[in-house]
Amino acid sequence: MRDRPYLLLDVDGPLNPYRAKTIPPGYALHDIHEGEKTWTLLLSQQHGVELNALATSYELVWATTWEHGANRLIAPRLGLPDLPVISWPADARSAPRRKPSSWKTRYVAEWVGARPFVWMDDEVNRFDRAHLRAIGGLGRHLVHRVDASHGLGAEDFAVLRAWVE
Ligand SMILES: [Mg+2]
Repeated sequence: MRDRPYLLLDVDGPLNPYRAKTIPPGYALHDIHEGEKTWTLLLSQQHGVELNALATSYELVWATTWEHGANRLIAPRLGLPDLPVISWPADARSAPRRKPSSWKTRYVAEWVGARPFVWMDDEVNRFDRAHLRAIGGLGRHLVHRVDASHGLGAEDFAVLRAWVE
């Protein structure tokens, strides 16, 4: 069987619409504590349902600054299993990069290899698409921007289902 495409998931923006002015329908505020730290996130149970359904077509992967914290702190709240994690080098944000594309782009390209993928993030745009084209050697892919004031919605899930068909 062919490998499923990866679905690379960002947390802040797509799953936690941190730019929302009020609590959007379907979301609830979650106070997440670990050690001395507390984060307040908006999360939607519907995301867990939709993403688990997509897991028959995609291999879900965390591509977020939460790194392994996404498995510890976010996944259980959405009913998602432990997922593979893209770890960023410690200096990833400050390392030289092809501006104005995202600091994540080169590491995403290294991680996915030749496997097809969809990358969902609130901070990707045409510069990241161009950067990936310039890197070359990648499989079929889609860079899909999600609005951080709404989070992943029905239209985004429709795009994800259509792409993998
Ligand atoms: Mg983000």
